[in-house]
Amino acid sequence: MSAEFHQPVDAAEVPRFAGHSTFMRLPAVSSAQGLDIALVGIPWDGGTTNRAGARHGPREVRNQSSLIRRVHHVSGVEPFSIANIADVGDVSVNPIDLMDGLKRIEDGITAILAAGAMPLAVGGDHLTTLPVLRAVAKDRPVGLIHFDAHTDTNDSYFGGNKYTHGTPFRRAIEEGLLDPKRMVQIGIRGSIYDTTDHDWAKSQGIRIIYMEEFVERGAVDVMAEARAIAGSGPTYVTFDIDSIDPSMAPGTGTPEIGGFSTREAQQLVRLLAGVDIVGADVVEVAPPFDLAGMTALAGANIMFELLCVMAPCVERRRGK
Ligand code: MN
Ligand code: MN
Repeated sequence: MSAEFHQPVDAAEVPRFAGHSTFMRLPAVSSAQGLDIALVGIPWDGGTTNRAGARHGPREVRNQSSLIRRVHHVSGVEPFSIANIADVGDVSVNPIDLMDGLKRIEDGITAILAAGAMPLAVGGDHLTTLPVLRAVAKDRPVGLIHFDAHTDTNDSYFGGNKYTHGTPFRRAIEEGLLDPKRMVQIGIRGSIYDTTDHDWAKSQGIRIIYMEEFVERGAVDVMAEARAIAGSGPTYVTFDIDSIDPSMAPGTGTPEIGGFSTREAQQLVRLLAGVDIVGADVVEVAPPFDLAGMTALAGANIMFELLCVMAPCVERRRGK
């Protein structure tokens, strides 16, 4: 089985800086046909409210992902041997028309799902998760495990604009794409607009785990609760790179101090093992604000951590 699956270019044969840049040095393929997991870029930041640049995220994460090797050093998982994974390129985007941009992203993810693969997307700003969810949760609401400094459940910006990277999860709940009672947000912190900012989310049943609670309890305890909230149903995982501290991930649109270390972020994602993941993304890597590619490198490594908990899901479903 694994002999037929796509494999990354071996850096002991071809150095990391040579050849075409793709996610994880996997082949670039033109469709998701035959894949279990499609690595897909969403180079779009039309929902950004502060400093833009996440449209450049996919290309830089591809570049930094040349550092990734085949085997997870803790779990021993070999994602490329248990699931067929390749880089399907970027979805079509429209940088000057927000609603058309959202439609194109949804269509791109729908094509991946129709081919029988699940998406691991790289944004793009966090509004890109909304059209991804429109595709992934088309037939039933899904649970959500959400790593972020921000809840992204505000109602509107700039005089009633409903579609920004600060609103995707409110829209997704209103559209019936998410089951808020199977939703947990981890790493939330920073100043807010009003004391009532998080009231709506809490009234929906979303569990918000503020950074201060994470520091008190630690990753193992927090993620045990997160897995219990998600339960055994289909769950989407979304990782906003601004959940990591800006000292380790400065290249992002809305930095907040007091974040996860990259080591904590790796541990958090590893502790997703056992969750029935139906899709995931890493968003808000903004290379124009990055230093030495460190944020894109963090994003590439979080992608690999996600792959190492997603590929076993493929294996479990195959066994059913
Ligand atoms: Mn976000
Ligand atoms: Mn954020």
